Amino acid sequence: EAFLQRIKDTDERLNAFITVCDDEALEAARQADAQRAAGNVQPLTGIPVALKDIFITEGLRTTCASKILGDYCPPYDGTAVRKLKEQGAVIVGKLNMDEFAMGSSNENSGYGPVRNPWNLDCVPGGSSGGSAVAVAARQAVATLGTDTGGSIRMPASHCGVVGLKPSYGRVSRYGVIAYASSLDQVGPMTRDVRDCAIMLGAVAGYDPADSTSVDMPVPDYLENLEQGVAGKKIGLPKEYFIDGLDAEVKQAIDAAVETYRKLGAEIVEVSLPHTKYAVACYYVVATAEASSNLARYDGVRFGERVDEGNGLIDMYMQTRSQGFGDEVKRRIMLGTYALSSGYYDAYYLKAQKVRSLIRQDFLDAFEQVDCILTPVAPTAAFKLGEKMADPLTMYLSDIFTISTNLAGICGLSLPCGRTEQGLPIGVQLLGKPFGEAELLQTAYAYE
Ligand code: GLN
Repeated sequence: EAFLQRIKDTDERLNAFITVCDDEALEAARQADAQRAAGNVQPLTGIPVALKDIFITEGLRTTCASKILGDYCPPYDGTAVRKLKEQGAVIVGKLNMDEFAMGSSNENSGYGPVRNPWNLDCVPGGSSGGSAVAVAARQAVATLGTDTGGSIRMPASHCGVVGLKPSYGRVSRYGVIAYASSLDQVGPMTRDVRDCAIMLGAVAGYDPADSTSVDMPVPDYLENLEQGVAGKKIGLPKEYFIDGLDAEVKQAIDAAVETYRKLGAEIVEVSLPHTKYAVACYYVVATAEASSNLARYDGVRFGERVDEGNGLIDMYMQTRSQGFGDEVKRRIMLGTYALSSGYYDAYYLKAQKVRSLIRQDFLDAFEQVDCILTPVAPTAAFKLGEKMADPLTMYLSDIFTISTNLAGICGLSLPCGRTEQGLPIGVQLLGKPFGEAELLQTAYAYE
């Protein structure tokens, strides 16, 4: 009740929720009370959790913040959602986001922009902006987001919460609406690192319904959480400390490095030489996969149809022209171009080769260090509208987060300071493939 009230009191300003499940949440909470009374307590019994509206939920409207899905109600829960429910979580609602997770500021939503709780004139970051804001504004204890190129870590940084992108394959993508399938990964957003460890433990693991999920045991992420970082090697990639980095962000990151040194970590410079190709490579791979994944929205299988009566092709065109927002159309056009015959080798195939080099850079660096520390974003949260007219500038705000997805490794954003204006700043920690336990230990030591 307290959380539902909090949502009522704050969400008119923040716009973090697309759907609030008042009755269902109260019913689930009653059941949780009954379970607790019967001594049947699980890690998430009665914990109010909210979901990015990219997670399909049985009988509960799922929009992906796109008008094309209308009031689409999926017939089943995705694996991560099912696991949360099985462990007692109470789902309080579905969260606003950039349409189909395409964006860095949460301004590309069919349901209006989300606002940063620390300054309502600023963006919360995207695409999981609602997921970050709900945690920061205490509308939910924890949320799930997805991260294709930084969509968990960047909003976490801009809103002052913890956000984790697990290694590719760690969490099932079954029942998560696909953006770029080789990059998408589900992850938690929480107030602190311990909550993050609990949430990851709840959703991680092999799922036969997702052929890209990896069949590896899930460690107990709480077991050695307090181990500390004494003797650990933390790498600073020189390519990430560049001219465009805002002075206040730089200062906060330097201070975080100093803290790690004091905690007993050894700080080493490393190099990720192919970093300069990451943004270009990502925006070829991501848009190509998106153009293919979004072909399914044809006005027949899901959501809305605009049928003006001029035959099948016209129905497709009307539905897609009116249903998709501008950024989604831009991505579909870019991706279709990159995949078209004659261009495939020059763009998509080339990008895949560059991607291998980027991944190899990280694997080489992890031969020397246990963890890599970088900024999350070049600046703190910017003003609403500031970058909307220039998509390329917007794409560049992902510069520090997208390599992680191209490489398939894990990464986490942790609050490490504030600007003079009071906007949160995050530090990014990157870990080895399937090194989430160690990554969480490193983050916990700082916190
Ligand atoms: N900003 C990036 C994009 O628009 C990343 C989005 C994401 O991680 N979903 O593609």
